[in-house]
Amino acid sequence: MLEVVAVSAFKDNYVWTLRDATHAAVVDPGEAPPVLDYLAREKLKLVAILATHHHPDHVGGIADLLRKFKVPVYGPKKEPIATLTQPVSEGDTVTIPALGVALEVLDIPGHTRAHIAYYGAGALFCGDTLFACGCGRLFEGTAEQMYASLEKLRALPDDTKVYCGHEYTLANIGFAKGVEPGNAALARREERDRDLRAAGKPTLPSRLGEEKATNPFLRCTEPAVVESVNKYLGTRVSDPVRVFAAIREWKNRS
Ligand SMILES: [Zn+2]
Repeated sequence: MLEVVAVSAFKDNYVWTLRDATHAAVVDPGEAPPVLDYLAREKLKLVAILATHHHPDHVGGIADLLRKFKVPVYGPKKEPIATLTQPVSEGDTVTIPALGVALEVLDIPGHTRAHIAYYGAGALFCGDTLFACGCGRLFEGTAEQMYASLEKLRALPDDTKVYCGHEYTLANIGFAKGVEPGNAALARREERDRDLRAAGKPTLPSRLGEEKATNPFLRCTEPAVVESVNKYLGTRVSDPVRVFAAIREWKNRS
């Protein structure tokens, strides 16, 4: 059983830390100090670093970690990450023998041009592409690319644990309620996630099945979502990519 711990960084980033009793691997260490503190406190040896995309709040801590631990650094082949030692893309598998873990690499461009996800052992590390009840902004990719990336993730099993890069859940739920006010699963989710945050706990990982039921960006063919988007646009669209693009734009403005 893979143990994954949330190490908080900056204001709302999570450095997901895969660990057993003695070893650890980290995903998207935007800064080193909280990771080094955690490893020291738990007496863990770092064995691998994984990056999903090149943004500084996901890779900024890698150089400092490498000063203490000489470990392989996996990350997207086609993005400018100076500290990368093992460039990977879809079709590659990242194996971490010390933890007995193998993770498949998925190409999920849109937020950045070559953003990747790591999937294995029932867990998905998806960086800034799929968020709990939301999705990343389109900085380097098109709506078509992002929609296809989200559809690729959507096809994974419902019980997949979704480990996103940020704690944005409550704000995302607030927006999602505006898109789909009648969604009962969304209302239940809000209640539970509010309680988690009030107790100082992460709302993550979420389950993919719940994302399918509540995340508007994964619901671009739901009649209620399409209807809401048409009202927002003041015109009729039904093509899922256009519906997706409209929700993304709507959220950017909200
Ligand atoms: Zn990012």
